[in-house]
Amino acid sequence: MHRTKIRVAEDALDANATIARANRDDFDRHGVGVVNLMSAPGAGKTTLLERSIEALEGVRIGVLEGDVQGTIDADRIAGHHIPVTQLNTDPGFGGECHLDANMVRSAVPALALDDIDLLVIENVGNLVCPAEFRVGEDARAMVTSITEGEDKPLKYPLMFRTCELVVVNKIDLLPHLDFDLDRFLANLDAVNPGVRRLLVSAKTGEGIEPWVEWLAAIPARAAVTTAA
Ligand code: MG
Ligand code: ZN
Repeated sequence: MHRTKIRVAEDALDANATIARANRDDFDRHGVGVVNLMSAPGAGKTTLLERSIEALEGVRIGVLEGDVQGTIDADRIAGHHIPVTQLNTDPGFGGECHLDANMVRSAVPALALDDIDLLVIENVGNLVCPAEFRVGEDARAMVTSITEGEDKPLKYPLMFRTCELVVVNKIDLLPHLDFDLDRFLANLDAVNPGVRRLLVSAKTGEGIEPWVEWLAAIPARAAVTTAA
């Protein structure tokens, strides 16, 4: 019984990986670098993206907004006059709490791949299953906010382990919170030793330059992949 369940889960992830590869091929063919941006609900992904759009120079960015329902975040991003596509998991994908490769596949025809260099996929806010599904990205990053507490890396290790960059957001609130930054960073290193981390305030803009530089370098990865 257990073995059957495990096999079904493995088959589902194999199928996901195949579709993710097809997405990646489409992105590479258009020379578009792709970031899968993940976080818990309310960590500040959309605010960080709004700041990033304003700060990016010489890189044409587009956003694929993943949400269970509604267009609240997509409407905010669209206000910055860049291509944005909404992908809702409800209706259509059973209200899933994450994006998978097949959902992203369904949105590919709607993406302005000829008009962008960088696609940021804002995943559904959730620290669990988004980490399990590749969607065709070149890089994975996550946003964690200090309002979530120091223990999150220990409670959701896969999410913190699967990302190459961890943005620690809302540092403007440090003086007001009972948040032990050193303890958080020690917890982060316990699950993903030495992972790159950036302390930022998307609200004030403090510390976001290295993040914007990291984003701006992603399209070059697609080009490298294309050439290989
Ligand atoms: Mg959002
Ligand atoms: Zn999920």
